[in-house]
Amino acid sequence: MKLENLVRENIKRLTPYSSARKEYSGAAQIFLDANENSFGSPLTERYNRYPDPLQTEIKKKIAERNNVKPAEIFVGNGSDEAIDLLFRIFCRPQTDNIVICPPTYGMYEVSAEINDVEIKRAYLTEDFCLNVEAVKRTIDEKTKLLFICSPNNPTGNSFKRTDILDVAKIFQGIVVVDEAYIHFSREKSLIDEIGNYPNLVVLQTFSKAWGLAGLRVGLGFANGEIIKLFNKVKPPYNVSQIAQKAIINAFENESQVNETISEIISEREKLIERLSDYSFVTKIHPTEANFVLVKTVNADSIYKFLLDEKIVVRNRNNVELCAGCLRITIGTPDENKSLLKALEKLATENTEFFEESAS
Ligand SMILES: *Cc1c(COP(=O)(O)O)cnc(C)c1O
Repeated sequence: MKLENLVRENIKRLTPYSSARKEYSGAAQIFLDANENSFGSPLTERYNRYPDPLQTEIKKKIAERNNVKPAEIFVGNGSDEAIDLLFRIFCRPQTDNIVICPPTYGMYEVSAEINDVEIKRAYLTEDFCLNVEAVKRTIDEKTKLLFICSPNNPTGNSFKRTDILDVAKIFQGIVVVDEAYIHFSREKSLIDEIGNYPNLVVLQTFSKAWGLAGLRVGLGFANGEIIKLFNKVKPPYNVSQIAQKAIINAFENESQVNETISEIISEREKLIERLSDYSFVTKIHPTEANFVLVKTVNADSIYKFLLDEKIVVRNRNNVELCAGCLRITIGTPDENKSLLKALEKLATENTEFFEESAS
């Protein structure tokens, strides 16, 4: 793979915006270069200065933890920003295409449509494994990005590392491995392969296991040449000061994150066991994430019933290969109890509509 041949010409030619904070980041004391308000902010904390455009402190910490270089990390406004930037760096609208492996995360498709890039599909197998042969068949010379989500949303399972790397080896484009749920999985991250696979981009996020979805911070790991392209194309101040500060503070409480992960996993196993008792549950898909995909006899009715009980789950009934399925996020013990109580009510009071739908 030659990165040079994958990058859009306009991006290669691009002179990136040069922010004041990038041009001068030394130890001056009087900053009159960025049209900021030197007087301060109408808050107790001061936010009058632009934040570090390259999130140096965060990258230093993440580099240590993941045994990579800071130059191999992109920090974005959620991993959704990284997904969009990949399109803008690599995909010529109306010319190139991407390959996704449905059922999978919806943002790949939305980002492709926003960027006017064709979507090709290599469906998972019936038991939600990566169909390596289908992926290889679907890729063509115009395919710039291949998205693999592992553990996969909405199915919950992880794909075989060897399957992913097998594809990465032969594919001449960029393989994007979305590890939003890796912290709940037994599988090891693919971050330690970025040195071996120059076309590999691994995405992670602070939105799930770290419990910081509201901050909007996501990560991309890749070789330094790809990260340079991210930095060239991204908005200069893509991660706010408040978010950068909060991430640094969150690292101080990492043990709490690990405890939460363990608790979510233990709640997940408990919930799965209880769910399997109900006759309207026909299959519980194996999961390595903080949610479980449950096949039911009548997803739409159960979804509506739960809504009436003020419980919202994700109805995946209309998603390919997910007919009858609800995706349920693992909540706190109390939330999960409420869910089970509602399902108990459903089971005892509403037997009739399951029978109807069975025909
Ligand atoms: C939730 C999720 C994300 C997270 O996106 P952010 O923009 O970082 O919040 C990314 N990928 C998948 C598959 C997800 O389910």
